[in-house]
Amino acid sequence: MHTIPFSEFGLSEPVMQAIDDIGYEEATPIQTETIPLLLSGRDVIGQSQTGTGKTAAFAIPAIERLLADRGNGVQALILCPTRELAIQACDEIRKLTAHTGFINPTAIYGGQDIDYQIKRLRSGVQIVVGTPGRVMDHMRRHTLRLDGVKIVILDEADEMLSMGFREDIDTIFADIPSERQTVLFSATMSPEILEITKLYMKDPAVIRVLRKELTVEGIDQYYFNIPQSLKIEALSRLMDVYHPEPAMVFCNTKKKVDELVSAMQLRGYVAEGLHGDMKQQARDHVMNTFRGGRVDILVATDVAARGIDVSDIGAVFNYDIPQDYEYYVHRIGRTGRAGKKGLAFTFVTGSREMAELRGIIDYTHKDIIKSSIPTSAQVMECRRLRFARRVCAAVESEDLSQYIAMVEQLADEGISSVEIAAALLRSEMTSGGKTAMPSEADDFIFAGHERRRNAERRSRSEGFRSGRSDSRSVRIHINIGSCSGLLPKHIVGTVAGETGIEGRLIGKIEINERFSTFDVPQEYAEKVIDVLNRTRIIGRRVSARLFNDKR
Ligand code: ADP
Ligand code: MG
Repeated sequence: MHTIPFSEFGLSEPVMQAIDDIGYEEATPIQTETIPLLLSGRDVIGQSQTGTGKTAAFAIPAIERLLADRGNGVQALILCPTRELAIQACDEIRKLTAHTGFINPTAIYGGQDIDYQIKRLRSGVQIVVGTPGRVMDHMRRHTLRLDGVKIVILDEADEMLSMGFREDIDTIFADIPSERQTVLFSATMSPEILEITKLYMKDPAVIRVLRKELTVEGIDQYYFNIPQSLKIEALSRLMDVYHPEPAMVFCNTKKKVDELVSAMQLRGYVAEGLHGDMKQQARDHVMNTFRGGRVDILVATDVAARGIDVSDIGAVFNYDIPQDYEYYVHRIGRTGRAGKKGLAFTFVTGSREMAELRGIIDYTHKDIIKSSIPTSAQVMECRRLRFARRVCAAVESEDLSQYIAMVEQLADEGISSVEIAAALLRSEMTSGGKTAMPSEADDFIFAGHERRRNAERRSRSEGFRSGRSDSRSVRIHINIGSCSGLLPKHIVGTVAGETGIEGRLIGKIEINERFSTFDVPQEYAEKVIDVLNRTRIIGRRVSARLFNDKR
């Protein structure tokens, strides 16, 4: 793909100076292809993947147009799908207009004080970068007039449509003079986008810059087939063992982001979330702390993370398998930059998601290797080693005399130094009690999940119903209880892990000293009993039978 220096576009002095200040040396391929067309006044559809410099590709010609043909009021309108993207685009445009003397860009988006925006709009701006909702809001209030707009740009058009802005776009276009230049940029194309281009563009030039090589090069990619209920445990274990700090974790919904962040914080990890519903201030705060290296795990949705320039990520987790193959590439492209080896982990649950994973493998032409979640023993060993390293470092390089005196004092009071160390170690290895010790029952489920899935498939073909059951429950009795150290999770883990029925179908569990009982849907009872009689729970053989409930 050829690129050219900016000097060859015949740009004006102030714009060249700005490009120089920013430090761009050469135009990117999408810029090389689209800038000359846009400068000539044509409508352009530009498609290239995220991070290829689409903002400057439309902003530079828009600024040139305004410089050549000074008018009054807002003359360029740029629509972006999210606040974050609007602000980012506006920042870039502000830099590019820095030497023009009179061109003022402003960003308008929901969540910011509208009066403040009105004041700025009144003060005379020529370029408005906005989200559709807020742009319409200002149109209704007559605080934004679009009758002087000469160039309109739909940025990240695919995201705008997937966020449901189609009708808003129609409303906004109704107010823009038809004598205008129309530009559309997108990372992907869809029939819906083409429909928009047909409605609003005149003889557009279509420029596609397809990626030369997918960015998955240099990234080790693994997947884990695990039950939904153990994803948090799996993420924790992988964080403990790989320490890929910082890590970026992708979820498909805002709700998931919030839930996962809370769960990880509860476990003692330094985690923050990023999604479109957050207040701008909160998003800025998260991004600043993340860039400053004060956050180990950033959990985000695709849209919120899009276009945000964070590199040097130790690992990317697809906590939810992405809904679009291209998203997968965008997500994991954030790791393994600057010649470093990258890591990508994908969690997969169920056969539908396995099929999606195979689709991703076909799409990227790169294998994603099946791997297992580290066992609790491996996790503990990693925590121990880390602790040992830190202790050694402290012993070698820090003055500990004050603390040695404190230990000696405690020893005088009858607590041995070994006990002190053990207590501290426990606290250290569980993040001061916040992080749970990884449980062996979970190991069992991780290991058994694959087997369970096979069992599920078998049982389905045998006519068992899977999923929610509305039939009656029956009670099952097993001959071990609290004396053997049995906990409810052991029952759930073994039954779910070994029989292929979902954990949530296991009803009320009662653990007595020497026996325990629990409910399962009637149609599974025989299978559960049969399987339990052939397996071990917490390492013990058990005898299972229907419970003769005479209560
Ligand atoms: P896209 O919209 O295609 O996702 P952006 O316009 O957000 O990409 O640009 C991604 C990054 O690349 C930004 O940090 C931007 O400043 C930078 N960039 C843009 N053009 C160039 C260039 N010609 N040379 C170097 N960096 C560039
Ligand atoms: Mg962009």
